[in-house]
Amino acid sequence: KSFTEAELCPLLLENIKIAGYEKPTPIQKGAISVILAKRDLIACAVTGSGKTVAYLVPVMNILLEQCVTPYRGTVQKPEVVIVAPTNELAIQIHRESCKFTINSELKSVLFCSDASVTGLQPSNIQAGYNILVATIGHLKDFLDQGFFDFSCVKFLIFEKLDEIINMGFGLDIKKIAEHSTMPQKGVRRTCMVSSTFSEAIQALAAVYLDDHIFVTS
Ligand code: AMP
Repeated sequence: KSFTEAELCPLLLENIKIAGYEKPTPIQKGAISVILAKRDLIACAVTGSGKTVAYLVPVMNILLEQCVTPYRGTVQKPEVVIVAPTNELAIQIHRESCKFTINSELKSVLFCSDASVTGLQPSNIQAGYNILVATIGHLKDFLDQGFFDFSCVKFLIFEKLDEIINMGFGLDIKKIAEHSTMPQKGVRRTCMVSSTFSEAIQALAAVYLDDHIFVTS
């Protein structure tokens, strides 16, 4: 299937074209239809496979197709939360995300500890946003302070889950996925992306997933 055959909205197809993506990679072919069908997902995919675009495209499509919600662009209630292990990856995801928000009312923001690239800090909350791309280390530091209201989250995504766990953030996954304002699994949709999926990692991921589909490239 091409991107066009996936029945994506015209604005998104235009932005895919501007980004220079001509046809979906294997992981994208698998993941796009799963997310568009509103199913939870485990994607086993290495760097370079197009794993980030694999979830960004269908997630953005769903956001763009939904009518404008009253809070959009006004207050800090993200509709999508993407969690990454490192600043480097978070920056990369945010850049990718910005390619798809062109000419839309969606806004992606970056929340990481690299002050040179992020303007989103507790001290300067201002314009609203829909897509929050954060490092797990930075996000967890602000969870208990009431800085984030996750009550409008439709998609919770963890990238490089194996790395997040190997870095010792296993408990922080729980803190985010089971945050008091976070819609429960099955109400929100959850995606986990990892380059390795040992049985232990799959078991941990399954705790936060609702009847998921496994896709590999
Ligand atoms: P990732 O696997 O997410 O690290 O992506 C690897 C690189 O592939 C990124 O630089 C993307 O911009 C690029 N990419 C993602 N999807 C496609 C596509 N369908 N066609 C060409 N390049 C792509």
